[in-house]
Amino acid sequence: MTLQDITSLMKNASVKDTALVEKAYLFAQDAHKSHTRYSGEPYFLHLFETAKLIAELGADASAIAAGFLHDTIEDVSVKPETIQKEFGSEVLALVEGVTKLGQLRYRGIDRYSESMRRLFVASSKDLRVLIVKLCDRLHNMRTLKHVPKEKQKRIAMETLEIYAPIAYRLGIRKINRELEELSFPFVYPEEHKKVTETLKRKHPELSKKLTKFHKSLLKALVRQSIKVSSSNLRLKNLYSLYNKLKHREWDFGKIYDTLAIRVIVPSIEDCYQSLGVIHGHWRPLPGRIKDYIAFPKPNGYRSLHTTVFTGDGEIIELQIRTEEMHKESEYGVAAHFSYKESSRKEKNKNNDEQLSRIGQLYKGLLSWRSKGTGNGSISFESDRSGIPRWVQDLGDLNAGAEEKEFWEQLRGDFFKNRIFIFTPKGDVVDLPFDSSPIDFAYSIHSDIGDHLVGAKVNGKLMPIDTELKSGDIVEILTKKGGRPTAKWIDIVKTSVAKKHIRASLQKQDEKKPRP
Ligand code: MN
Repeated sequence: MTLQDITSLMKNASVKDTALVEKAYLFAQDAHKSHTRYSGEPYFLHLFETAKLIAELGADASAIAAGFLHDTIEDVSVKPETIQKEFGSEVLALVEGVTKLGQLRYRGIDRYSESMRRLFVASSKDLRVLIVKLCDRLHNMRTLKHVPKEKQKRIAMETLEIYAPIAYRLGIRKINRELEELSFPFVYPEEHKKVTETLKRKHPELSKKLTKFHKSLLKALVRQSIKVSSSNLRLKNLYSLYNKLKHREWDFGKIYDTLAIRVIVPSIEDCYQSLGVIHGHWRPLPGRIKDYIAFPKPNGYRSLHTTVFTGDGEIIELQIRTEEMHKESEYGVAAHFSYKESSRKEKNKNNDEQLSRIGQLYKGLLSWRSKGTGNGSISFESDRSGIPRWVQDLGDLNAGAEEKEFWEQLRGDFFKNRIFIFTPKGDVVDLPFDSSPIDFAYSIHSDIGDHLVGAKVNGKLMPIDTELKSGDIVEILTKKGGRPTAKWIDIVKTSVAKKHIRASLQKQDEKKPRP
């Protein structure tokens, strides 16, 4: 638990950065010195591990310092003013973002929702708040066995329902996977046992066959002079396996991607060439070839996927990508940490290039605002760069959202089945299942929703209550005189759309002449 364990993970750290982290390290050690964890270990261990996880993600010195300090206000009554004075307002904002509200003012679920809301409001201004919170939660999950039994299930459930999906949506697969694996046995002990046992029975035979296939695969690629940087055969995580088994009558034979082979090659050309070589040798399963390089997932994920018949009765999923794509797929949004506007401007020109790259990468994630509402033509401009739209939306919900609605959003809309809809320009918007063109319009901008008069889906004029399907290209037609009607509330699936429609209806009401 030395300071060097952390500073050695920091890239391009200035003397000032290192000093800030060191100060936070010493401050936390002292503030929590008489404070222990359920395991009996010093509390500082938790702070150290949290800060280390943040550093591993590549976050900056302020985020790492916040990792050390994140429990000081809540657990050992350090005053916010003290953090401000010692570490500045940037670190204080991060710490306050993850701090729960005072015990006295709020109790039970109210207090809890308020804390959650605060987390999203803070995150919608600075995404690092969410990163600190995720790392805090990950370490708590790693040590959940020490927590009293009656608390374990609630914490694990919340992790599975809220934090693991957040990590997924941010594209931080590394944390998403670990949170799922750690929560699964606490939330569904029976099912966990069943999956583990099924796997124990089937796995050895399967793994033998596939190891053989893996070898022939590499041979085939090398013969075509493709330089494979690395590749591995791995078992997909137990929780996602459970979700698949559940939907396929627990028939192991129906799951094609229990095991997957990941092939890392130097360039994008190599990715497509490898795919060609593989399909030349092994017949692919129709409908399972996915080009996430040309069409990245909204969380930024890029890779080629295909599923092939191995020739000895097995079917296996292959993922082909470059080293850079792999890093992004593991670290997501954290692989391109976005700093606040002010610090950005101070840095050198290189940053502009980096920024435009981030912009491109997270095109689908960024928030786009329309410039004027001409007749159906929509142009976009990003704001609060680097902060995913859905985080902003959750933060914005703060304003007057009903308690129930907030939770519905968090549990439902945001994390359940999502569909990916494209704008005519190729930007991706993700929406809940069965969303309509109205939801799509409001997800782009409230002005577009408010003036919607029609929609083209895949080039064809369609009713505005059409249920959209993933991959649809939707163009919204607007007119100055367009207005929402009360009927729209029943059509839309997103709370954001509901909120704007209600507001617009109310405005129309107020304008009506009074009798
Ligand atoms: Mn903590």
